[in-house]
Amino acid sequence: MNLKEGVYEISGVPVLDVCRQFNTPLYVYDTAKMEAQYKRLSKALKGTKHKINYACKALSNINVLRFFKQLGSGLDTVSIQEVQLGLKAGFVPKDIIFTPNGVSIEEIKEAVALGVKVNIDNLSILEQFGALYGNTYPVCIRMNPHIMAGGNLKISTGHIDSKFGISIHQTRHLERLVKSLNIQVEGLHMHTGSDILDVDVFLRGAELLLDVARDFPDLKYIDFGSGFKVAYKPNDMATDIEELGEKMTRLFNAFCKEYGRELEIEFEPGKFLVSESGYFFCKVNVVKTTTATVFAGVDTGLNHLIRPMFYDAYHHIENVSNPEGRPRVYTVVGYICETDTFASDRQISEITEGDILCFRNAGAYCFTMANNYNSRYKPAEVLIHKGKAQLITERQTMEDVLRNQIELEW
Ligand SMILES: *Cc1c(COP(=O)(O)O)cnc(C)c1O
Repeated sequence: MNLKEGVYEISGVPVLDVCRQFNTPLYVYDTAKMEAQYKRLSKALKGTKHKINYACKALSNINVLRFFKQLGSGLDTVSIQEVQLGLKAGFVPKDIIFTPNGVSIEEIKEAVALGVKVNIDNLSILEQFGALYGNTYPVCIRMNPHIMAGGNLKISTGHIDSKFGISIHQTRHLERLVKSLNIQVEGLHMHTGSDILDVDVFLRGAELLLDVARDFPDLKYIDFGSGFKVAYKPNDMATDIEELGEKMTRLFNAFCKEYGRELEIEFEPGKFLVSESGYFFCKVNVVKTTTATVFAGVDTGLNHLIRPMFYDAYHHIENVSNPEGRPRVYTVVGYICETDTFASDRQISEITEGDILCFRNAGAYCFTMANNYNSRYKPAEVLIHKGKAQLITERQTMEDVLRNQIELEW
């Protein structure tokens, strides 16, 4: 989004027009940004055989899935429903990897029946898998290298207390199962968290995973997960993707040489690919001055965008109705009957009731985490593609709120 002659635009489309046409609260995504991010990562990995699997839990609208498919991306899924969504979007099974956590063998069997790549993250299910399929269906193993990384504990998955992955200290047990059940291990995987800034943290995890890989002779790919940090604040630090690509390429190519075969390197970013492509627009219902604070109360809340309350996430806020106003200090709050504070003591261009505010970085883990709390409707979603804004999800109605409820005859 940029300001051009006093008007905020996304890829040339004036944002206030989009809000007028589709109403607020409204999620808007820009395919140009998704494409730029995809190509940037792909370019950073050009020195090695690579594959990018879009982690669709970040933003799972079917049009977004199709857009990534036509860029050449694979798909990272964490539930059987996401697998089904991916197939419906047109991904072929071999381009979908199923990386669930804590699911039953029944759900794994469903994934096998659909023919997608299966990634298993505990020894109990692996043993059941081996007993069922032996060497007839290849599998990927999710390891936990115990790297403490990520923006905060809620989004860190690689540490010692984490529920994710098979500990690298259990490699001996893993090898024993693989050998005795004749399991065909075609891939190794790690995913150590989200918002990891430091490239060397990745490298350390990668080295540990490659150590394990030496013991598995039938590998086709090694998947290093994701967790790249993007900028949320102006002048925020972000993972240096070019540095990461260069260092990972060097490390991986050296490993392949030693291994004796060229393997494929895989990554599965969600946030990196879609966070910055998304904008969330809402309207200011009320400006309320109390003894201590000036609140801007908006027509949305934690039901639509929970990241600030759930993760203490920072989302940059702009008053797109008054781009050149005097900056004043506001606390932006939602309309839910809970304390749903989006931002405290934030400098924003002077707000009057009826103004439209824009939250940045609203592409990843925003709409997909939205819900109907307070019996409010989920917002609409719009995609800006080739200079055109199109509705991709309708705003809900009372019918949606009541869907699946069964009214008893009293
Ligand atoms: C959520 C998730 C990702 C994506 O993480 P980001 O931080 O959004 O890039 C990748 N892999 C797995 C297994 C995940 O669960």
